[in-house]
Amino acid sequence: MTIALKAEGLTKEFRGFVAVNNVDLTVEEGTIHALIGPNGAGKTTCFNLLTKFLQPTRGTITYQGRDITRMKPADIARLGLVRSFQISAVFPDLSVLQNVRVALQRQRGESYDFWRSEKSLNRFDDAARAHIDEVGLSEFVDHRAGELPYGRKRALEIAATLALDPKMLLLDEPMAGMTQEDVDRISALIRQVAQSRTILMVEHNLSVVANLSDRITVLARGEILAEGNYAQISKAPEVIEAYIGA
Ligand code: ADP
Repeated sequence: MTIALKAEGLTKEFRGFVAVNNVDLTVEEGTIHALIGPNGAGKTTCFNLLTKFLQPTRGTITYQGRDITRMKPADIARLGLVRSFQISAVFPDLSVLQNVRVALQRQRGESYDFWRSEKSLNRFDDAARAHIDEVGLSEFVDHRAGELPYGRKRALEIAATLALDPKMLLLDEPMAGMTQEDVDRISALIRQVAQSRTILMVEHNLSVVANLSDRITVLARGEILAEGNYAQISKAPEVIEAYIGA
């Protein structure tokens, strides 16, 4: 097994309150790994630590064997570890194609100026269309991003994220606020994206977690309660108690 991401002794204290306590987490390359747990379990804090939006109080994080504990989010994104949804800005007034071209331009480290850049962005057309195809948005290529239905907007965010050429994606509640039809569509998309990438996601929807995840880590009160596949963790008495007691 090749390890993509590993956290050891990960701890975050907020003025003495321990939100994440000594968490050891190993995400295997090529898998879909879910982080679940009742409200207040520490999932978001953990996610922010792993993506370096928060600095851990203690512990280390390695990505592909490299210590990233002290690295900035932009630097780890360059290594291929990319967080989606919350930071991937989609510009509502730009078309689907323009949005992905901008993401490709940013990936090259160029700054974006809509009026001056528009012509020079044409060189990204082929690559942008390939990402748009990959997420099933070909028929929306010229639509304004702001006019897309919610689930399609999320697919566009994934296309823009794929433009950053990630090897590992961290998804924060990818199904939040979605209709069942969108959930099915984004689930299929995540599975497809995962064929050549590693995914770690925080997700509340347990049927999505059951359906998609190879491995699940259950957090409660900042600590790991259980780990395994869905069949294993859903039978663990401490997991049942944590969810019922939440
Ligand atoms: P989850 O995402 O599982 O619902 P969180 O990671 O958001 O859990 O929160 C875990 C605990 O840490 C909660 O009790 C929350 O109130 C606390 N917490 C989170 N962020 C902060 C912060 N910036 N300052 C103080 N306490 C925080």
